[in-house]
Amino acid sequence: MSSNSCGANYTPRRGVRQYPRALTLRYTKHPTMTHSQLAFLLAVLCPLSTAQTQQPPAPRSFAAQPQMTQAQQENFPPQLLDELQTIKAAALTDDYAYHQVAHLTENIGPRPSGSLQAKAAVDYVASELRQLGLDVQLEEVKVPHWVRGAETAELVEYPGQAPGSAQKVVLTALGGSTSTPADGLTADVVVVNNFDELKSLGRDKAAGKIVLFNEIFDKQKAAAGLAFISYGEAVRYRGAGPKAAADLGAVAALVRSVGSADYRLPHTGFSTPAGIPAGAVTAEDAALIADLAAQGKVRMHLTLTPQKLPDSTSYNVIADLKGSEHPEQIVVVSGHLDSWDLGTGAIDDGAGVVVAMEAAEILQKLHLRPKRTLRVIAWMDEESGGAGSQTYSKDHINDFPKHVAAIESDSGAAHPLGFSARMSTAASELLRPVLNVLQSFGANALQPSSYPPGADIASMSDNGVPALGLEQDGRTYFNFHHTAADTLDKIVPAELRENAAAMAVMGYALACMKDPLPR
Ligand SMILES: [Zn+2]
Repeated sequence: MSSNSCGANYTPRRGVRQYPRALTLRYTKHPTMTHSQLAFLLAVLCPLSTAQTQQPPAPRSFAAQPQMTQAQQENFPPQLLDELQTIKAAALTDDYAYHQVAHLTENIGPRPSGSLQAKAAVDYVASELRQLGLDVQLEEVKVPHWVRGAETAELVEYPGQAPGSAQKVVLTALGGSTSTPADGLTADVVVVNNFDELKSLGRDKAAGKIVLFNEIFDKQKAAAGLAFISYGEAVRYRGAGPKAAADLGAVAALVRSVGSADYRLPHTGFSTPAGIPAGAVTAEDAALIADLAAQGKVRMHLTLTPQKLPDSTSYNVIADLKGSEHPEQIVVVSGHLDSWDLGTGAIDDGAGVVVAMEAAEILQKLHLRPKRTLRVIAWMDEESGGAGSQTYSKDHINDFPKHVAAIESDSGAAHPLGFSARMSTAASELLRPVLNVLQSFGANALQPSSYPPGADIASMSDNGVPALGLEQDGRTYFNFHHTAADTLDKIVPAELRENAAAMAVMGYALACMKDPLPR
């Protein structure tokens, strides 16, 4: 087959992720397809392959690089484009980010707000960024300090129960949950699938009960690349369910874990303080309880003994690589340093912090000084209320007109697909030459978003700062998110390097383009 044919002989560019076999063009090896069927398919799919096999390859207009507009040319002159290529090449062979996330996750460990490990992580990241020659400030943040206690549950009465037996339920407390008595509480369980069902139960049937929200995480959407839509649909119950149940007099609330794995892992996460014990059971346990409750009465003995300690002082780490021409203009590259306590916060969000750190490391290593200030921020307390982001907004809101753009990475460490962007069409159109640089490894999608593309940059975004969220392949992200399995082994070093490259290239481009990104 000639080299200008598409499909069957397509060789991915170097560095491009090889997708699983199931996603490749199956007709190439279809065992029952005849030659004529194959020829027909190729004629339809590759119209040039039959007609032009005897001709020299003709230029194909759709494959040509689009001409840069005048504004793009002015903003991204050849020297800047060369520098972006150099940054990309350096990042794709640099293990700085991986070494940093290994230290954060394995040497320091889980970093929940208020913990000793969060404090150690602040000191460590500040020290590392000082070593890179950045101007580092610690911005004081008051954070909640909640610590997990015992967490056990068992079904003590249910239809068909073998006399004298009980069934263990696997669960974990949700952030901010209050405590049961030390020896637990026992109550009937009532299962609802959504808020409407809770409402129709009313106080009569909810008061004194343990309410279980059995909203199912849509794994099919997640597998098809819409994991954050599945998350958004299900996470409402984790966030607001316990409070809604408490308002009807429930003695405790449980949610089905918001996640896509099938390994009986509970997923923790923030829940609006409800004043009652609140936990997440595994998807398997939610299904079990729902099945039994459909047959008759189910009673649970539940013990959750977390504690809310006094608020604690922590910090956002803010590190500037000062701009050479417009030091007052700021481009933020960021991730959040705090994590949940069950795992070690590798994909959520150690990875985001370290790719932001590497953006500065690469520029220092290459002796490339940005025109505007590149500001690395390791945010504190994204997971349990966002105190770090709120404090930054309060302290810096008068500077937001000089914040040229803000980037956050907080959706994992898998292969990057590009960015979600909340900015004007003119601004995103202007960034096309930067995306072309990222195209060689597939990180060139720019998805318009009507929402802030990162929790910690939401306030900036709401105040008009053009905002970008680094977007990864999220198909397996919610297998591990907020579980004990969010650990270093989930990060593929080559994919982390791609993320660092995308962050460094975009950060430097925004800091060096001729004009500040339009609003
Ligand atoms: Zn996160």
